[in-house]
Amino acid sequence: MRRILTSALTVLVATAVPAAANAQLPQVPQLPASSSSDIQGEINHRIADARAQVEDFSSKAFPQRAPKQKVPAPAPEKKPEPRNDGGVDCANCVAITYDDGPGSETNRLLDKFKAKNAHASFMVLAPNADQHPELLKRMKAEGHTIGNHTKSHRQLNTLSYEQVSQEIDAGNAAISKATGQGTRWVRPPYGATNATVDQATRDKGVSQALWDVDTVDWKDRNSDHVCSAAVQGAHAGSIVLMHDIHPTTVDAADCVIDGLRAKGLEPVSLDRLLRTPVPGKRYYARG
Ligand SMILES: [Zn+2]
Repeated sequence: MRRILTSALTVLVATAVPAAANAQLPQVPQLPASSSSDIQGEINHRIADARAQVEDFSSKAFPQRAPKQKVPAPAPEKKPEPRNDGGVDCANCVAITYDDGPGSETNRLLDKFKAKNAHASFMVLAPNADQHPELLKRMKAEGHTIGNHTKSHRQLNTLSYEQVSQEIDAGNAAISKATGQGTRWVRPPYGATNATVDQATRDKGVSQALWDVDTVDWKDRNSDHVCSAAVQGAHAGSIVLMHDIHPTTVDAADCVIDGLRAKGLEPVSLDRLLRTPVPGKRYYARG
């Protein structure tokens, strides 16, 4: 303490009397030991006094922040799980649908959707479903929708009610056999439908999944084009048509998923996009 006071006084004197810098500095008075501890005591006393005043003021002005009152720490906010189903109202949802499989490319496509935690719908042909029940099981287990693309891929609008019924029944039977569960969706081949198909699907309690975005991927076997067609054509509520039997279409899947997400859209299953479809109704998109 004494050394500090001595140094401080030296500095003060040197600053105040620069002209006298070379002159003999006045003798710094030696502070008695008792005097130093008195100053320290006074300082401590004033600090304690000031602290008491601040605490008193604080407890009156902010009673909830009174220092003695223990406020329980708020429970840490639980972070919501990241959603990949378009959120509660699915406002930004899009359904990507793949027809004519399952086939040799389908497993690779499922891997891609799994890696990106996205979902799609697979409109299967009965003979292919019978051939690859394990793929249908995987689709179901991973949250995709399975739809009925009939037995023999005929134009349903050229058939009788009975024939349409048989086509639908065969598809449903194949799906049920593989997964233990039926489907709510029929996709008429070529999108060919009419009043007879409306009636037959209504009677069987299934809805018609058509589309508003056709990527024409069966003709345009170019992944970049397929991706552009899907991403540029899609808007919230769209149903996008593709085919999982073409390697180029499967190659485009990452680009499609990423591209839709970059537009603020989320690829979901048809069952997610349309939770309560009306039997017999033709759905080209949601809304
Ligand atoms: Zn087809």
